[in-house]
Amino acid sequence: MVVRVRGRALPHGEYVDLYADGDRWTTDPVRNVEAVVEGWLLPGLVDAHTHPGVEVPGEPLDDLMLRDHLRQHVDAGVTAIRSPGLAGEPPDWFGADPDLPRAWHAGPWLAQHGQFFDGWGRRVDHDEMAAVASAQAVRTGWVKIIGDWSSAGVPVPVDVLTGVVDAVHAVGGRVAVHTQQAGGGAAAVAAGVDSVEHGMLLEPELLTRMAEQGTALTPTLHGLQQVLPEVLRRDDSPGKRWFVEGARVHASLVAAAAEAGVRVLAGTDSLPHGRIMDEVRALAAAGMRPHDALAAASWDARAYLGLPGLEPGAPADAVVYAEDPRTDLDQLDHPIAVVLRGRLVRGGH
Ligand SMILES: [Zn+2]
Repeated sequence: MVVRVRGRALPHGEYVDLYADGDRWTTDPVRNVEAVVEGWLLPGLVDAHTHPGVEVPGEPLDDLMLRDHLRQHVDAGVTAIRSPGLAGEPPDWFGADPDLPRAWHAGPWLAQHGQFFDGWGRRVDHDEMAAVASAQAVRTGWVKIIGDWSSAGVPVPVDVLTGVVDAVHAVGGRVAVHTQQAGGGAAAVAAGVDSVEHGMLLEPELLTRMAEQGTALTPTLHGLQQVLPEVLRRDDSPGKRWFVEGARVHASLVAAAAEAGVRVLAGTDSLPHGRIMDEVRALAAAGMRPHDALAAASWDARAYLGLPGLEPGAPADAVVYAEDPRTDLDQLDHPIAVVLRGRLVRGGH
């Protein structure tokens, strides 16, 4: 089945007319076009922080659930995901199945002893963290470190984290770090990690350095905001005060990050899957321009993963909307069509 897409393409809004020649866009007409889709075109959406295949912390990866979650992402127009931490070794079809998103993953989370969810991830001594991380990066290109945990978990020391970054970069990999404390965030930025995940309570003074050194921020803003009402109903505790303090200022941190030129990535980190539109709207509500909030979930996130946009030679992904989603982010709820690897996988005629 040959798919042709035409219309105004974001980010620049120019008119394009592209044919999918297998998994490559081309402007050269391809014979036997069976589907023509017209509208406002994005090069597919990206969820840069999602953990498909499991719904309860500590449980093992379930292949049927994994497939189901990934289908939900495709329904939402997501053609690529990054999983910073998986609950088990993914099956061979993960990231390769023609009907399911392209995928990048970091294998199991790497955490300090006594931190993170029981049953998930790998506990690693400080003196072996760099070696374990570089071995993981050789396998999958990414490593995920739990840099700190909840309100009281002592952060991974900056010298350990710096060793991880050096070892992983030496093998061509990248490091994503979970932080929800000021100290863990500061260590991650000082170590020069590739992406800060959540970044709750990060000191805003560090944003300029993040922008300069190319450290991305995946704020998972909607995910944190979603939890807040439930946390507010709990009895007072240090853990409650920590979370409420961080979640309440997180939107302004996101706005400041965008303002400082930090690359922001849209990630959901929550259930149900296939809700990247909620994060895009949360980023916009926080103060990012709709154009930039969409970039965080589409062309800029793709560029971060090494995927070019809607241009000849690029992998043939697209999500198509009736109207310009920048003027109406609710368009994200109603994609006309989703093209993945040159195939029409949702919608169209
Ligand atoms: Zn996560």
